Amino acid sequence: MYDTAIIGTGAAGISAALTLKNLNKTFIWFGSKRLSEKIRKAELIKNYPGLSAVTGEEMANIFCAQIQAESIEITEKTVTGVYALGTHFSVLCDKEAFEAKTVILATGVESVKPIKGELDFLGRGVSYCATCDGFLYRDKTIAVVCTSKEFEHEIEYLAGIAQKVYLAPIYKDVAVQAENIEILKGMPIEVAGGKRVEKLICKDKEIQVDGVFFLKSAIAPSALVPGLETENGQVKTDRKGRTNLKGLFACGDCTGRPYQYVKAAGEGNVCAHAVAEYL
Ligand SMILES: Cc1cc2nc3c(=O)[nH]c(=O)nc-3n(C[C@H](O)[C@H](O)[C@H](O)COP(=O)(O)OP(=O)(O)OC[C@H]3O[C@@H](n4cnc5c(N)ncnc54)[C@H](O)[C@@H]3O)c2cc1C
Repeated sequence: MYDTAIIGTGAAGISAALTLKNLNKTFIWFGSKRLSEKIRKAELIKNYPGLSAVTGEEMANIFCAQIQAESIEITEKTVTGVYALGTHFSVLCDKEAFEAKTVILATGVESVKPIKGELDFLGRGVSYCATCDGFLYRDKTIAVVCTSKEFEHEIEYLAGIAQKVYLAPIYKDVAVQAENIEILKGMPIEVAGGKRVEKLICKDKEIQVDGVFFLKSAIAPSALVPGLETENGQVKTDRKGRTNLKGLFACGDCTGRPYQYVKAAGEGNVCAHAVAEYL
């Protein structure tokens, strides 16, 4: 069992990983080897100590080199659930489970807020994971709300299972190709139904669907971790990054403003020390 599982590869997760390595703790680190799009997409960064003026790509490359130099591995997986089991945590990725004594949430914030009904129908027709739940919709009609091109392979996977896919892409240059995909315009307004999802309500029409997949790079923390206390979508923590769940810590944008690299990195460092103290 790992001492900790870090979820997220932005400035907060990077700083937590580097500090835990120094503190000689074992950890598994989930996210992307490209780190964070919020690092790569920045035009010019002028407020990170030690780097006078760098582009996001330059900063990401510096971080990558530092991670490599420390021989730290990133497990390229998306975490779909974190479950507190009393003495430790089970971290689910797709159908795989990993065990850790503590967890550090460094998942950032998704700029696209949950739509009405999204969280209410989670597990009752709403899913965040194509490969976990796709099989439930064989020959059925589904909708996919997708916020990034990086998930297009998951849309194509779903199109191979479902009979019909209504796709609401919240990004430019859509390149998915499958005959059973129909593109919707704009962000849908609401997921509605009874015991389960029955329809997706858009600005100009209502679509009867059996399920709705939301493919986005950060899932609302309360949906990721059952029982986690949040306020206005942000994880509530104390100054050490401790949440209401014993052994679960949070840092970076997911804990609130200001949304800044140096604040995220600072909190990642604080969380790593708090984890060591807790262990
Ligand atoms: C265009 C742009 C320019 C900016 N410019 C500046 C600037 O000049 N100066 C500044 O200080 N700040 C700037 N910011 C803000 C800065 O990007 C954020 O404050 C910072 O990235 C927050 O770091 P983080 O680690 O908390 O989250 P993020 O950088 O958002 O990283 C979170 C990571 O976790 C991953 N993740 C989320 N959920 C999961 C999961 N379930 N499983 C696995 N991985 C997951 C995400 O994919 C992401 O890679 C800018 C932001 C943008 C968008």
